[in-house]
Amino acid sequence: MFTPQLAQRMRRVRPSPTAEISDKVRALTAAGHSVINLGEGELDFPTPAHIAQAGIDAINAGETKYTAVPGSARLKQAIIDKFDRENGLNYSAAEVIAGAGAKQLIFNALMATVNPGDEVIVAAPYWVSYPDMVSLAEGETRIVQCLEADGWKLQPAALEAAITERTRWVLLNSPNNPTGALYSEAEIRALTDVLLRHEHVLVLADDIYEHTRFGQPFFTPAQVEPRLLPRTLTVNGLSKAFSMTGWRIGYAGGPKWLVDALQVLQSQSTSNPSSISQAAAIAALDGGTGFINDWIDQLAGRRDRVLVSIERVAGLTCAMPEGAFYLFVNCQGMYGKQTPDGKVIANDFDFASYLLDAAKVGTVHGSAFGAPGYLRIAYAVDDRVLDEACQRIEVACGQLG
Ligand code: PLP
Repeated sequence: MFTPQLAQRMRRVRPSPTAEISDKVRALTAAGHSVINLGEGELDFPTPAHIAQAGIDAINAGETKYTAVPGSARLKQAIIDKFDRENGLNYSAAEVIAGAGAKQLIFNALMATVNPGDEVIVAAPYWVSYPDMVSLAEGETRIVQCLEADGWKLQPAALEAAITERTRWVLLNSPNNPTGALYSEAEIRALTDVLLRHEHVLVLADDIYEHTRFGQPFFTPAQVEPRLLPRTLTVNGLSKAFSMTGWRIGYAGGPKWLVDALQVLQSQSTSNPSSISQAAAIAALDGGTGFINDWIDQLAGRRDRVLVSIERVAGLTCAMPEGAFYLFVNCQGMYGKQTPDGKVIANDFDFASYLLDAAKVGTVHGSAFGAPGYLRIAYAVDDRVLDEACQRIEVACGQLG
């Protein structure tokens, strides 16, 4: 008889909690419920027309074959120009690579460099995938807890205290998913000062939300401290800046030895990212971000609508985020309350589950991001849908005893 059996490494990885929420939402919707998903990290805006057209043109022109593994020469040039123009980072063609999303590049960077027992410092709240990627690479995640009172920002002393001789990487993410925290130049400088003193540590800057900011300027570590360039991988992508999550294009700049390794892994796993998406990415990167102000205005309006609604609910509080498109809501005031069918809300998971069951609104519990007591609301959805979701949340919270 056949017994299904998976590799041992599968014990080290959980399915993404955000994907799980989306699956639950889809199942409830399929069962006939009207569910609103505020759990997905995705803008609802269509990909700008000139970018989509470049993809269509690529298909019509027959650009449908393999390209060089790290991306076509034209895409690499567009990436080099972007880093130079927007971040003051100068890379050669051998120092940049495109992949199937920022996710693939981060995963490959860890796989290429982490040995069993190596430590990777991750500031919590963190993007859900970091610890699982570290586990798959057989490393140990060293979580440094950040506090709401510190604007959710990693403090230099906490970083210093977490570094050991086993530390291989520090992962930094600004603007942050899930909190929206955006580090100022001085805040990044305080961290890079620490990192300068620890020459064995690699730095991964996850800049995927670079363009989703509400007025404050953006800085990336290698720009603030060029002496870190030889050991920094700066990762970015098209998903959030250009509303292109489905096109799957991310890119990174870093030292040649590391980029070479990413290329080797990619060559033996997925090869080049989609040639059609590459053509669209060139149009996106070369075409500028002129449309972004309009998106930011809309997002700021949505952020404020949800904040106002949260203020009306006793037991929920939320600070104003500086970037990304999430609200990280403190829901500890709901603990101990009772649902109409007699269940007691004991933690953030219970509260998120209650909102899904009672209000049919999908959110993600903070524990998924390493921050129990909170709830992530992704508000990049249509205004009317968002208003409906807020109203449902207010009603459901009003029914807690
Ligand atoms: N990094 C962070 C912090 C994210 O939130 C996400 C997606 O949600 C990614 C990376 C992955 O982006 P991509 O779609 O480019 O793989």
